[in-house]
Amino acid sequence: MTLHFPNMAEPAGRTLGDEEVAALERVIRSGMLNSVWGAEARALEREVAELYGSRHAIACASGTAALHLSVVAAAPDPGDEIITTPITDFGTVAPILAQNAVPVFADVDPSDGNLDPDAVAALIGPRTRAIMVVHLFGAPAKVGELRRLADRHGLALIEDCAQAWLTELPDGRYAGTAGHVGTLSLQQWKHITCGDGGLALTDDDELARRMRLFADKGWDRAAGRSHESLGLNYRMTELQAAVARAQLAKLPEVVASRRRTAGQLIEGLRGLGLGDAETEPKTGGPKMGGLQACELEAGGVRIGLPRPDGHAWWLFPLVLPEGDAPGLAAHLSAAGIPARAGYLKEPLNQAPLWDAPVYGSSRYPLEDYRPAPCPEAERLVATTLLTIDWNEHYTSEHVKVITEAVAGYLGRP
Ligand SMILES: *Cc1c(COP(=O)(O)O)cnc(C)c1O
Repeated sequence: MTLHFPNMAEPAGRTLGDEEVAALERVIRSGMLNSVWGAEARALEREVAELYGSRHAIACASGTAALHLSVVAAAPDPGDEIITTPITDFGTVAPILAQNAVPVFADVDPSDGNLDPDAVAALIGPRTRAIMVVHLFGAPAKVGELRRLADRHGLALIEDCAQAWLTELPDGRYAGTAGHVGTLSLQQWKHITCGDGGLALTDDDELARRMRLFADKGWDRAAGRSHESLGLNYRMTELQAAVARAQLAKLPEVVASRRRTAGQLIEGLRGLGLGDAETEPKTGGPKMGGLQACELEAGGVRIGLPRPDGHAWWLFPLVLPEGDAPGLAAHLSAAGIPARAGYLKEPLNQAPLWDAPVYGSSRYPLEDYRPAPCPEAERLVATTLLTIDWNEHYTSEHVKVITEAVAGYLGRP
């Protein structure tokens, strides 16, 4: 019998239990399900702010809503540009368009798919207002460099940490605290969940005020029924918040468990006999497009291993510098391992969206804007990137099955 890999869509792949049931019952019996008058969402905000060492955490309806708040905080004029990555969830990009700003896609580091600070720097122009960086799959992006770049040019730095709960930066702080705003998601497929939900983190009182107002119809509740700015209803309910609080208590163990088994897989892959576990990671030559990750090589197949430092392991990515990630994905799938090539059908700079009107029949302010090519991102998605679903309930048995399947693939004639 093939070993079952627990996934995020079933009880065995989640950490939902008695604590979440009790939290929901507490809220339902209180008669107050709305966070304007309830205490759960405010408590969640305090707990997340404390965990992250942030001055403010603002709870809202989704990760996309949190990103929309972050763009509102950056306050672009219509037509201003926000530089972001083409390898991400559309929730990173949709809020840019919603604020009538222009997403400008910078290319990525081919070793991990995270934004390349040099590519970002080359795109900064007179209309650039912000940089939105994503910690892809939970791997820390180069936010130190990006923050220096942002500060030098007077830009806002926004960190999308939807896949990066408790990702650690080289200085030991959590991802989400290096930028002006950091955002988190509580959607079903993230480390912890309440179905849907989001949080925006900031140390800046004025940005926090703008984001709170936008999440609640521009309504300062202390000032009477009066609307001082444009806003939507992006509020989190008390039901979501109560479940999220129970989940938050389990987060450290969720991430620790994922780190444990991901570390075992890295060790297992290094120890296949294909690479020497004692050798230093090789650095890529020009042929590998600058691949920096540790590599294995056997039978002409090279596999770039993810760097474990600070990684929160939302997914476990592998990079095949010479291509054929689809081949390895098919091989792993056949062994019952939840693996996929490419992550996206196409990187977001190539989405069908750019050939259609955006608002009614209009493309304002995009006009005839088309995203520029991002060759590294395109290559990753089309041929070199593979992701294995990761889960806190994996055991050394799961790691063994994956290691053996990769060994089988590399051993093929
Ligand atoms: C999931 C995700 C989002 C969107 O979050 P939702 O809660 O689904 O709206 C944004 N960015 C990234 C990188 C994500 O993985």
